[in-house]
Amino acid sequence: MKRKGILIIVSGFSGAGKGTLVKKLLEEYSNYALSISATTRQPRPGEADGREYFFLQKEEFERKIAENGLIEYAAYCDNYYGTPREYVEQQLAAGKDVILEIEIQGALKVKKQYEDAVLLFVMPPSAEELRRRLVGRGTETKEVIDKRMHRAAEEAEGIEAYDYIVINDDLQTCVRQLHEIIMAAHNTPGRNREFIENIRTELEGEK
Ligand code: ADP
Ligand code: 5GP
Repeated sequence: MKRKGILIIVSGFSGAGKGTLVKKLLEEYSNYALSISATTRQPRPGEADGREYFFLQKEEFERKIAENGLIEYAAYCDNYYGTPREYVEQQLAAGKDVILEIEIQGALKVKKQYEDAVLLFVMPPSAEELRRRLVGRGTETKEVIDKRMHRAAEEAEGIEAYDYIVINDDLQTCVRQLHEIIMAAHNTPGRNREFIENIRTELEGEK
């Protein structure tokens, strides 16, 4: 029986370590496909178009919205971010577990369309450590870091909408935990209806 892919949403405060975690998850396990988002923000040093993001002008992004080419999109800290539809649907159909690393407004929109999606929220061990990681990453100005910390305080209000939290203290432990949660999700009755029905049919004669 072919295993269907699960749509996995990974959210969390900027700087919590989502990018780092997801990269490790993809390096260590083979059944994942990572969706590359489109954004209107500027590339950070070291980021490449088509690898971290598809970097678009505002007009190009708005055209994608109009063409229904995005599963969801959201405005975050003055820029648009959105998930291209085609890749996600292809990969799920091919049985891959597809990871969307997106913020909370987008996560809730995806959950409405894909009820079966698994929503994970990555937490830092403390707020102090979160700021330390944002500063340590060295990719944003103090002003942008303050904005992202402020946004984290707002996002913290929405955590209960998620299915699981994972605490990114030790990276390796957290990667393993993320993988284990996803493996467990494959074993819910709702995701194994066909198998369950087959066994029931086989057991009919035992009644
Ligand atoms: P996000 O994608 O959530 O914005 P990043 O993956 O860019 O976060 O991580 C933010 C910073 O924190 C990076 O400099 C990264 O190397 C560091 N980091 C990530 N995970 C850990 C961890 N478990 N322990 C210490 N530092 C970490
Ligand atoms: P960053 O600018 O740090 O790469 O990302 C900022 C925020 O946008 C992060 O919380 C990230 O998860 C989120 N994000 C990235 N891609 C998407 C997307 O396609 N849709 C939505 N809704 N959020 C996204």
